[in-house]
This record gives sequence, structure tokens and C-alpha cells, in this order.
Amino acid sequence: MTTERPTLTLVIPAHNEAEGLGHLVDALDHTLRHVTDYELLVVDDGSTDNTAGVLRSLREAWPHLRYVILSRNFGHQAAVRAGLSRARGRAVIVMDADMQHPPSVLIEMISAWRSGADVVHAVRRYGATIPLFKRLTSGLYYRLLNLISDARLETGAADFYLLDERVVQDLNALTEQHLFLRGVIPSLGYRRRTVPFTAGDRSTGQSSYSLKKMLRLARDGVLSTSVKPLRIGVLLSSLVGGAAALYAAYALLVALRGEALPGWTSIILVVSVIGAMQLLTLGIIGEYLGRVLAEARGRPSFLIADDSLDADRHVAALS
Ligand code: UDP
Ligand code: MG
Repeated sequence: MTTERPTLTLVIPAHNEAEGLGHLVDALDHTLRHVTDYELLVVDDGSTDNTAGVLRSLREAWPHLRYVILSRNFGHQAAVRAGLSRARGRAVIVMDADMQHPPSVLIEMISAWRSGADVVHAVRRYGATIPLFKRLTSGLYYRLLNLISDARLETGAADFYLLDERVVQDLNALTEQHLFLRGVIPSLGYRRRTVPFTAGDRSTGQSSYSLKKMLRLARDGVLSTSVKPLRIGVLLSSLVGGAAALYAAYALLVALRGEALPGWTSIILVVSVIGAMQLLTLGIIGEYLGRVLAEARGRPSFLIADDSLDADRHVAALS
């Protein structure tokens, strides 16, 4: 293994993937051998099978294989972040270990990067082999997410993307705990491209995404890309407040005509006024909470894609 930086690092999170890893390393070598120099960085996310052992023995035959073994299972997103923090390539590709992200797509991603893209997102077209339940829920989920959040996600965006080293640096600078990578990456900007791919079957083993983990990811996606749910209070209060005002006016009218039962008018007035005020107050708290959340996340207010000063330095270094 050289100490020089490779052009490309492939970050591959792996949870109980011992069976499939050898095949994956072979397939990647077959695809990339004549395309670019690269390193594989497999992150063993607390596997309970022999993933770590397989990695150690594969490394004897494949010196460009690196691995990082996490101390326990931290989850897919955390494993990817661990990989990003250790990647050395000028570009980084994140992909799954189970061959559901076909290596052939890598060629297209790399050539998009070479022609100037900083972020190349592979977007899933579902093959017939993916269970209908997963196709439906995932389609619905992306729609919901785009509706209530500030993220703009392609339906089928997976954790399968190429990032220029600048983008990797920006991601590594984010310190928040719950990062929904595929939602945050589009929000960083830069020159983006998408390439389609058809998700196949797992080569071996079984999905580590239990329903529980999937729901957790779905929740993190909503919470980490949006503050809109917090605004629901304000929205509701203006709707309900308007209706309450109308109903209060009606109650007053009935009272003035002397048709109201004793006590009815005051109860209606008190209930509707207090209800509307509570909703409004919740909405205001929500707005402030949204600000607190934004500050706690500490995301940068801006990111710089190019600075002419760097280009000048580069020229000076060459001459
Ligand atoms: N993975 C991980 N940690 C986890 C769950 C999954 O590193 O806790 C890895 C897994 O090894 C695979 C990728 O994340 O490379 C996607 O997981 P999986 O294939 O189980 O999910 P699915 O494709 O069914 O959504
Ligand atoms: Mg999979």
C-alpha cells in the first residue's frame, strides 16, 4: 500500500457482509482496474459474523484494501461518516457492500466527475426484484419528505454517490449527531449530476435494515432536513383561530338575540379564545425552537466552491 493519495476512495459500510465481500472486491477490481487508481475503504459496522476476519485475509491479496472496524454497530449513516472521515481520495464514492449498487455505474459516475461534477448521485430505478412494499413506502416517503422539508430529494436517491474531496471536507466539518446524508448533500450545493441505476438483489446475506432501522432513518430524514413540522402550530392557529373568531361572533349574535342558554356564550368565547391563543403560542415557540435547532446544528452559512486566490497559488507553485 502506497502512502500516496489515491485518485478515488470507495467507502463501503458493511454489517455482516462476510460472505459477499470477496465477490465485491473482485467485481470492483474488474470494473476499475483500467479506469483509475483507487483504494477500498470498508467500514465494518460492528458485524457479528466474520466480516473483520474476511477483511484481514482479503487485504493480504489486495493491498489497496483498507478497513476500519467500528467498536460496535453504530448504524449505516454513522459507518459512512466514519469512512468519509478516513477517505484519502480526490474523489470518494459511497456504495453498499451487497452488490445492490452495481459496480458498472461507477464508470459513469467517475466520468461525470472528470468532466466537472462535484456531486454525482446515483438514483434508483426499482427493478422488479425489490419487494412491492419497499417500492411503495419508499416512493411515498420521498414525496412526504419533499413536502415537509427543505430538502430536494430525487425519488430513489440512495446512499450511492460520488463526492469531490471538497464536498467530503464540508461533510466532515458537520458535527451534528443525526445527519441524514442523502438529504444534506443536495443542500450543500456545488455542481450536481444524477445517474440512474437499477437496484438488483442482494448478492448474499440479508438486509440489515430492519423495519425499526428503516423507521429510524425515516425519522432522522424528516428531523434533520426540516423545521416545517414546527411551523404546524402557527398554521393551525391561523386556521383554527379564524374559525374560532367566526364561531365566537355567531355565539355573540345568538346571545344578543336572547336565544342562548345561560352560560353557553361565555363558555364558547373562553374556549375558542384560549384554544387559539395556545396554538399561537405553541407556534411561536416552534419558530424559536427552529432557530435554536439551526444554531445547534452549526451548519455553515455559506460554502465556497472556488477562490481565485487558490488558483493563483497553484500557478505560483508550478512556476
Ligand atoms: N449497514 C451498516 N450498518 C447497519 C446496517 C447496514 O453498515 O447497521 C450497511 C450494509 O452492510 C450495506 C448497507 O449498509 O452495505 C445497506 O444496508 P442493507 O443492504 O442491509 O440495506 P437495504 O439495501 O436492504 O436497504
Ligand atoms: Mg442492500
